[in-house]
Amino acid sequence: MTGTSHVFIGLAGYAALAFHTPLPFSMTTTTAAVVGSLAPDIDHPSSRVGRLLWPISYPLARIFGHRGLTHSALALLGLVVAVALVDEPVVTTLIAFAVGYALHLAADACTTQGVVLLYPARKRFRAPITVRTGGPGEWALTALILLLAAASVVLHPAGPDLPWP
Ligand SMILES: [Zn+2]
Repeated sequence: MTGTSHVFIGLAGYAALAFHTPLPFSMTTTTAAVVGSLAPDIDHPSSRVGRLLWPISYPLARIFGHRGLTHSALALLGLVVAVALVDEPVVTTLIAFAVGYALHLAADACTTQGVVLLYPARKRFRAPITVRTGGPGEWALTALILLLAAASVVLHPAGPDLPWP
């Protein structure tokens, strides 16, 4: 998926999750979720994060390839371990980052390329219905996710006013 879709999906997904759970919805956590939603593509030198952090991106791409280690359950496990090792207020920000990161992997699993979730095993995991990166299907899927996230807030019995300030 494109970076734009990842940002929308990460932001909408985290916002909906924060509405339905005790996770805080703040500038810090939403920013962390958005950064997390872009982070796995650090293994792609042409991606937004890859261009920004090219000294890291090029070696990662060369060693692991795009959608390799950074798009795997191992990377997510590393984040879970990191969450377990830190205290507040870092842990809340790291959880938001991990949510964005996980949403990135889920979104990429909805593309024809899929993700190598069990890296270093090469098996690719794909959703039952996939879209082409940058194609109209991607934009339709992103719009659908945004609508579902908004509906989960608006149609919630508590209404859209709670628990956000
Ligand atoms: Zn990706």
